[in-house]
Amino acid sequence: MEGHGGRRWPLVVLASSPFHGHMTPTLQLAKALHAHGFSIAIAHSNLNPPNPSNHPSFIFLPLSDNLSTIDDSGSFSNFIQTLNKNCKPSFQEHLTRLIGEQNRGNKSIVVIYDHLMFFAGTVAVDMNLAAIVFRSCSAAYFPAYLVRQQLHQESRFLEQDYVMQEMVPNHHPLRYKDLPFSKSPVEDMQQLVAIMSQSIRPSAVIWNTIKVLEHEALTQIQNHYQVPVFAVGPLHKIAPTNPPTNFLEDDTSCIAWLDKQAPKSVIYISFGSLMTLDKKLLTEMACGIAKSNQRFIWVVRPGSVCDSEWTEFLPEGFIEETRERGLIVKWAPQKEVLAHFAVGGFWSHCGWNSTLESISEGIPMICQPFNIDQMVNARYVSYVWKIGLELEDLESGEMESMIRRVMVDEEGEEMRVRAIGMKEMVKEAVQNDGCSYDSLEELVGFISSC
Ligand code: UDP
Repeated sequence: MEGHGGRRWPLVVLASSPFHGHMTPTLQLAKALHAHGFSIAIAHSNLNPPNPSNHPSFIFLPLSDNLSTIDDSGSFSNFIQTLNKNCKPSFQEHLTRLIGEQNRGNKSIVVIYDHLMFFAGTVAVDMNLAAIVFRSCSAAYFPAYLVRQQLHQESRFLEQDYVMQEMVPNHHPLRYKDLPFSKSPVEDMQQLVAIMSQSIRPSAVIWNTIKVLEHEALTQIQNHYQVPVFAVGPLHKIAPTNPPTNFLEDDTSCIAWLDKQAPKSVIYISFGSLMTLDKKLLTEMACGIAKSNQRFIWVVRPGSVCDSEWTEFLPEGFIEETRERGLIVKWAPQKEVLAHFAVGGFWSHCGWNSTLESISEGIPMICQPFNIDQMVNARYVSYVWKIGLELEDLESGEMESMIRRVMVDEEGEEMRVRAIGMKEMVKEAVQNDGCSYDSLEELVGFISSC
């Protein structure tokens, strides 16, 4: 495609991290840019690679990571460090070759990199290419991370329980316990700060969020980076199609099951693609679900419960007792499930993709955050947007009560009304002249001028 002044539009190389919750929005962004006429290449680690046959018009650039698993028992910062170090040489080789090819066609290259793959930004800048960072977390996470980092550096992050409940001064609505890495060992934070300080200053920033939803945080991001910031979310509604990401196979039987249920009668329970949880917590959940007497779909990823291959952890009698009103699956077509008329609530870990998907369908939530950005997201859902309840006491009686409050009580109905208002806001943001639509148009202009 011809761009301004007869120059051919750049090839966009997107460097994706191996995390499912990052890969999915990266591919959605790639689809949206491809629909605007850009050629697309996806650089990916060999761990959790995308399936090229799902994206026949993209070029795929495998990176030699020499990693065999995302080792969630090891430190997150070590993993990120190794990933960046190992992937860099093959990315350099791919770019050198592509630059040679593009020069012959008089076409430039723009690199968009997941912020965890910061080596790609460094390589791009070293090769005089534009480097744009892509963030798939909430915008509110960013100022929360900055204050967490500052408190850490000034040794002011105290971990006593009574402090954790207090509000962080000047950072309404966050409490200390809501800050990123508030539950991680202090060494992890130290390492992460050191590692992330290797990131370059990008030429622009892309965020998977909506300006009208996170205006204040986006302004802080803009002030921090001092480069153009594009809020183009939610990308699953902006992308022309939502391709599968080759993670786990969707169990589509839950849609047929949902078709037979009454409107808003089912609570959907899922904690995303990464969490590994202990058996005791899952047993409490099972008891809470059983006692609530509500209909449910519960995603239990194989291997996500310690010492249990799949559902062996369930208390005796659970399956028989809930057979008529519940379904346990290994992996659900989540976006379809949340859009189904029969779903009335989402019990979630508040990963940002899940949160955006829930908001986009007007579903009230039970928030059970575990780490990184999830506490910030949960705080906004429950305390600011008031479309969910945060589960703080991880005990079956409290879980039962939360399910009933969201699914049955007047309180749940009020949250649903607000959630439907947010669904409308999302609809407006992604349609012609909406803020996310406009931001994508501006991003297209920015890339084509590089
Ligand atoms: N997801 C899914 N089926 C499931 C569970 C999760 O398709 O059974 C998808 C979900 O729609 C979301 C992603 O996995 O797009 C999870 O991303 P999120 O940011 O919520 O959490 P993470 O996995 O990064 O912790």
